[in-house]
Amino acid sequence: MTKIKDYKLIGRTTASSKFSEGKFSKQDYYRINKAVRLTILQNQLDSLPIDLHKIILNNKWNIYSFSEARNMLNSIKVDLTKNNYGFTLRIGRRMFIFYDENVSIPLQRFTIAHEIGHIVLKHFYINDHNNDEKEANMFAARLLMPMCVLYECNINNASQIQEICEVSEMAAYYRYKRLKLVEERGKFYTDKLELEVYKLFKKYIDQYNHK
Ligand SMILES: [Zn+2]
Repeated sequence: MTKIKDYKLIGRTTASSKFSEGKFSKQDYYRINKAVRLTILQNQLDSLPIDLHKIILNNKWNIYSFSEARNMLNSIKVDLTKNNYGFTLRIGRRMFIFYDENVSIPLQRFTIAHEIGHIVLKHFYINDHNNDEKEANMFAARLLMPMCVLYECNINNASQIQEICEVSEMAAYYRYKRLKLVEERGKFYTDKLELEVYKLFKKYIDQYNHK
């Protein structure tokens, strides 16, 4: 396993990471939605639950649970496993995601998706840490629970989202609220990339609806 000599902390997931939507400008929504959709398309993610390890593998990033990484992390003076569900380090040119394996699977998945968000959104130079955290949460929710797929699967309660997306009750609750809002506004497929995501998931959606 790599020895850590010099590293940069890219981002982390803490207990205070919220699942609710933050307030963002139109441009921010657009940029984050675009990043999520490109991640789905480039990694050919075509079914739920979203295969996070496929993204990590495709990008040649590294992932370790806290216990797997114990020796590696001992060479750092600060204990980053404390008060964090996960974090990402850039060591040389390589990305390492670390996560707490002692929390529920949905929370582990949200943590990993959040960390992927920090990498994809290039939070390499943390100017506004608080804002980066909100963006990574937004990225994670959208990646794990793609809105157009939920819509096409005729989802009509939060526990369905919880089940098919392997997310926590809380994350599903907020996403369901958001789904209802977007449905009310009729704002689907205003973006070409969203239509591409739908096409990629079409087989999954058809199977889901004919179960
Ligand atoms: Zn974070």
